[in-house]
Order: sequence, then C-alpha cells, then structure tokens
Amino acid sequence: ATTHKITLVPGDGIGPEVTAATVSILEAAAKITGSSFDWHTFDAGADAFAKTGEYIPKALYESIEANKVALKGPVTTPIGGGFSSINVTLRKKFDLYSNFRPVKSLPGIKTNYPNIDLIIFRENTEDLYAGLEVMINPDIAQSLKIITRKGSTRIARSAFEYAKKHGRKKVHAIHKANIMKLSDGLFLKCCKEVAEEYPEITYAEHIVDNTCMQLVMNPYQYDVILTENLYGDILSDLCSGLIGGLGLVPGANLGADCAIFEAVHGSAPDIAGQDKANPTALLQSAILMLHHLDETAAANLVQGALETVYAEGKSLTRDIGGTSGTKAFSEAVIAAMGAK
Ligand code: NAD
Ligand code: MN
Repeated sequence: ATTHKITLVPGDGIGPEVTAATVSILEAAAKITGSSFDWHTFDAGADAFAKTGEYIPKALYESIEANKVALKGPVTTPIGGGFSSINVTLRKKFDLYSNFRPVKSLPGIKTNYPNIDLIIFRENTEDLYAGLEVMINPDIAQSLKIITRKGSTRIARSAFEYAKKHGRKKVHAIHKANIMKLSDGLFLKCCKEVAEEYPEITYAEHIVDNTCMQLVMNPYQYDVILTENLYGDILSDLCSGLIGGLGLVPGANLGADCAIFEAVHGSAPDIAGQDKANPTALLQSAILMLHHLDETAAANLVQGALETVYAEGKSLTRDIGGTSGTKAFSEAVIAAMGAK
C-alpha cells in the first residue's frame, strides 16, 4: 500500500484539538484498511511568527508544493490590522480557486430542516479578498473588488462539472449584479456562458440578499450554489446553521495541482482549549481528502462510523445538544469502526 505524505497544519484556537481528533480517527481507519499516512506538521499564523519570524514558514510552502495535499485546522486572523489571512494567502499562493463546501444533514440532529443536501462552490482567489485596500485619506478607505473572466469561468466550470458527474439537477448563480453591474455582471455572464454547455442542468440566477431569505424559508429549492468569494463565505455559515452549525460543515480548497482540506469554521476562541469543539467539520474535510487520495475504503469506513455515532446520539458534542467532549466523541467514532 502507498504511504500518503500529507502536510498537516493544526492551526490555533480549537485547531489543535479538532486536528488531533481527526488524525487519531484517520490513523485508526488506516490500520483497518491497510493505508498509511506520513504527516508533515507545521505551524502557521501568530504561532509560526513567534517561532520562525514568518507567518507562513517557507518550509510549509515547500511541503504543500511537494505533497500536493494538506489538511488544515483554522488559523486566527487579526481584525482591522496585523497580518493578512493565512487562509486567503495559501489559497492565492497555490491558486486553489475552487472552494467546495457540501452542506448535508447528519442523522440524529434535530433541526428545522431535515435532509438538507446542497453544495456551495465559492470562488476562492479574487473578489474583495484580493486584499487591495488603501486609505484615500484618514477618513476614506477603499477596497477594490476584482472579478475576472478567468476566475468566474473556472469556478462556474467546477460547479457544472461536479453537477454533471454527481447527477445534480440545478445550479444557482448567486450575485448582486443589480448594484455591481460590472463586476457581478461579468461573473453572471461567465456563469451563463458555461451553463449553456450543460443543457441537462437547470440554471438560475438569484440575488444574494433574497437568497439569504430563500435559504431560511425554503432551502430545498437549492442544489448547487455557485458564487463569488464574499457571498460564498457568508452563505456557507448561513447554510451551516441549517444543519446544526459550524461544527459540521467541511470544505476543500481545490486547484489544478494542490488541494487543502479545511472546515468552514474558524478558530472558535470562545471554546478553545476546553475539549468542547466538534471535530466533525474537519473530520468530514478529511473524508473529502481520502476520496481525493482514492482511499475510498477508508473514506467509507470513517463516514459510516461518523453516521453511526450521530444516529446513536450518545456521544455528541455540546454545539449540537450533546454533553461529550472532543476526545470522547472521537473515541466513539473509532469504536464505531470496530477498531477498539
Ligand atoms: P468561528 O467559526 O471560529 O466561530 C463562530 C461560532 O461557532 C463560535 O461560537 C464558535 O464557538 C462556534 N464554532 C465554530 N467551530 C466550532 C466547532 N468545530 N465546534 C463547536 N463550535 C464551533 O468564527 P469567528 O469567531 O468569527 O472567527 C474566529 C477566528 O477564526 C477569526 O480570527 C477568523 O479570522 C478565523 N477564521 C479562520 C478560518 C480558517 O482558518 N479557515 C475560517 C473562518 C474564520
Ligand atoms: Mn468564513
């Protein structure tokens, strides 16, 4: 069997806790399926700066470049100053233009919306996240929104290709082209052009503010959501709320060469270091990674165990109404794989 070399960034806040839980589950799965992982672990952000003088150590860049696959915990980004987001920087550096975020209900969680199953494709490299900001004078700040034909067309293609391959019926492009006539207008134009190549898939356009209301009133009308960087960021957190919260929703940052798998949530400083975090979002990101590595047996084993633990409902974390800690939850998943 091959040994997969994987760059591991535990991150900060709840990052190290959910990463340790996820790695322990993957190691237990690997023992059963005969797969093996070689984890190359790096700090990033404030922790890395304290140790190396760099927010993203050169060795981390080199590791991702060599391994092509990373599993990453959340990294805290200072507000209103300080260093640029590590996440945004890595996505841009490796041109990980497609942020794939499946939002799917797990068994046993009581929410207002059973059986949610939608996918968000978020453009991941441009929009207001280009970081082009200046103070025009002390009282006027300017942020530039960059939308390109190339960026819009390739995220649209990702969404439609995925829809075609996985039998999805509908793609909604989410925009605000009534106001941002040029930038969002170009985005929409590119989406429509790509849509014409996929006549078997229904294509629709919704304005983003209305979409927020529609998602809360009737989320079932959506199948694949295709959108720009900022709207995708916001809609992802909204959609996580439909299925039980940020503790659940995974993500993949995909480019032509490399992939970084990470949860939608951040470093959750309010619960960090207390064994309270739900590792499910990162674990499900790791399941996406296992599929990416063609470790289908391991992916299915972990997925099955995760669903068993949710269906039983005895070892769930506090964010979804349980009383278990991060460690106890991960031990229950390992037990459900029959690895104990
Ligand atoms: P957050 O996602 O960290 O937390 C929002 C709320 O959800 C909090 O109440 C938190 O306790 C809860 N939550 C999040 N993940 C959870 C989990 N796994 N289990 C249980 N509860 C969970 O968002 P925030 O507080 O706005 O951001 C905190 C920091 O994270 C900021 O510095 C932000 O920049 C950073 N961030 C990083 C990433 C990333 O690394 N990819 C993504 C988003 C935010
Ligand atoms: Mn976000």
